[in-house]
Amino acid sequence: MEEKTFNGIGASPGIVIGRAYLLDRRKVVVAGQRIEEINVKGEVARFKKAVDVSRAEIEEIRKRFSKDLGKSHRYILDTHIMLLEDKMLVDGTVKRIKDSRLNAEGALRETIDAIVKKFNAIEDEYLRERKHDVEQVGERVLRNLLGRKQESLAEIREEAVIIAHDLAPTDTLMMRKDRILGFATDAGSRTSHTAILARSLGIPAAVGLEKITESVKTGDVVILDGIHGIVIVDPDEQTFLDYLKKQRRYKYFEQELYKFRDLPTETLDGHTVHLQGNIELPEEVDTVASHGGVGIGLYRSEFLFLNKASLPTEQQHYEAYRHVVERAMPHEVVIRTLDVGGDKIGPLGNVEKEPNPVLGLRAIRFCLSKRDIFRTQLRGILRASAHGKLKILYPMISGLQELQQTKAILEEVKAELRAEGVTFDENIKIGIMIEVPSAAMIADILAKEVDFFSVGTNDLIQYTLAIDRGNEHVAYMYEPLHPAVLRLLQRVSFAAHEAKIDLAMCGEMAADPLYAAILLGLGFQYLSMNVASIPWVKKIIRSVRMQDALELAELVMQQPTAALARRTAEAFMQERFPDLAAEL
Ligand code: PEP
Ligand code: MG
Repeated sequence: MEEKTFNGIGASPGIVIGRAYLLDRRKVVVAGQRIEEINVKGEVARFKKAVDVSRAEIEEIRKRFSKDLGKSHRYILDTHIMLLEDKMLVDGTVKRIKDSRLNAEGALRETIDAIVKKFNAIEDEYLRERKHDVEQVGERVLRNLLGRKQESLAEIREEAVIIAHDLAPTDTLMMRKDRILGFATDAGSRTSHTAILARSLGIPAAVGLEKITESVKTGDVVILDGIHGIVIVDPDEQTFLDYLKKQRRYKYFEQELYKFRDLPTETLDGHTVHLQGNIELPEEVDTVASHGGVGIGLYRSEFLFLNKASLPTEQQHYEAYRHVVERAMPHEVVIRTLDVGGDKIGPLGNVEKEPNPVLGLRAIRFCLSKRDIFRTQLRGILRASAHGKLKILYPMISGLQELQQTKAILEEVKAELRAEGVTFDENIKIGIMIEVPSAAMIADILAKEVDFFSVGTNDLIQYTLAIDRGNEHVAYMYEPLHPAVLRLLQRVSFAAHEAKIDLAMCGEMAADPLYAAILLGLGFQYLSMNVASIPWVKKIIRSVRMQDALELAELVMQQPTAALARRTAEAFMQERFPDLAAEL
C-alpha cells in the first residue's frame, strides 16, 4: 500500500497516530416532489414535527454535556437551537411548501441552499463559515423527516481517528477523549464551530481536506497532524517513525509551555509585554485567562450582529460588553466597534451590493454613514465602561478627518448620557486600528489624537501588498516580513513612542512565535492573539533579552526581501530556540 498525504487546515493542534474510522456524514439526498394543495397542511405539520424532534435531540445533548462544556461553549448548542426557531430557515421552508407546493424535504433543501448561498457571499471568513451551522441543523431536520437514524460517535468502541465529510459541533461533543484520538474532515475551516470546540476540548483536528473520505477506509493506519492540517494515510515505516518522534516532542513541549502559563510575560532583563487574547464572542473571555493571557486586546464586536434578524438593541450591546468586562477583571478589554462591509452584514440587508467591498463602505465608514447604528453601539459600550476596564478601538481609520468625526460622535453620545444621568468611565481610552497604509503613513498626525494604536496586520498587509487576504491564488504573497510592511510597522512604532501612546498589535502577525522577538524589538508593548498562541509567544518573550530583540529587529529591517528577512528570523530562532523552531 502506498503512503498518501492530504493537506488541509490545522484546526486543533496535536499529533495522533491510529486507525481510521470512516463515519458516514454525507449530505442527505432528498427528492423534491410537487404536492397537491390538499397535502400542504400535512407537509407543514410533518416539517414542524421534525423540527421539534431535532430540537429535543439537541437539548438532550446540551443537558448531557452541560457540565463538560462549561458556560463558555454552551452558546454553540444554543446557536443550533436558535436556528430551529430561525425565520429564514423555518418560515422560509413553510413558505416554500405553501407557495411552491413542494414536499417538506424538497422545500427544506431549497431553503438551506438559498441561505448557504447568502452566507457564501459574505466576505468575513468567520461569518461566512456560520453557514455550516445552518447546514448541520438542516441536515438533522432532513434526517428526522426521512426517519433516518445517524450513527453516533458515542457508539464507537475502539480507539480511532474519525474521518468524515463534515462534523457538527454536537459530534465533537460526543467524542470521548479516551477513544477518539482526533478527527479529519473534507469540509470545514479553522473558524467553524466544530474547530473552535475541538480546540477548547483539546481534540487534535484537521479540516478542509477536500476529498479525504474518498481515500480512506475504516481500519487504515493514519497520522493526523492538527498543527499543520496534514493527514497521512498508510504511512511508510520512515514516516511513521518520524511522526512518532514529532508526537513525543510535541507532547513534551506542550507540557513545558503550560508550566509558565501563570508567570508574567517579561524578558530576561525585566521588560514587560502585555499578552492578550482576541475574542469573537462574549463567552470566549474565560479561555484567555486559562491560556495565560491578561485581558482582551481585541473583541470583534461585529459578531453580535451575527445570525440576527434585527440589529442588537442598546441593552443587548450593553449586556454583552458588561459580561466581558466583568469577567476579564482585573484586566482590560478593548472593544472594537463594528467592522462590517457592505456585503458582510448579511441579514441586516438594506446595504447596496458594492463592486469592491474591501475598498467600500466598510467598518468606520459604514458606521459614519449609519450613525444610528453607531450611536447605539457607543451608548452600550460607554454604559458597560462603568463596570470594569474598557477601551474603545475604531477599525479602518484612514485619515484625520474621519477620526475627528468619530471622536465628535463619541463626545455627543457622552454628553447625551451625562444629561440622562447615566454613569460611564469619563476617562475612557480610545485607540485606532492601524490597518490602512494611509494611517500608517500619517501615524504621527493620528497619534496626537488617541491613547493607543493597535496594528491590524491582516488588513495592513492586504492593503499594502495589494493582495486579497482571502484569495488562495495570491496567498503565497501574503508576507508579514515584506520590507514595505516592516517599514510601516517601524514608522507606526516611532510615531507612537514620540507621542508617548501605547502600541499594540492584534493582527495574526502577533500570534506567530517566529515574529515575537522582532515585534518586541520594534517596540510593541501589547500583543493580542488567538488564545492557543499565547503560551508559545510567552515562552519566547520570557527567553530573550531586550537587547537581542533590538538587534534582531535591526537586522531584519535591513533585508531587501521578505525571503531574506524570514531567513534571518529563522536563523535567530534556530540558534536560540532549536526545540521550539522544530515545532513551528
Ligand atoms: C486585522 O486586520 O489585522 C484585524 C485584526 O482585524 P480583522 O482581522 O478583524 O479585519
Ligand atoms: Mg482588520
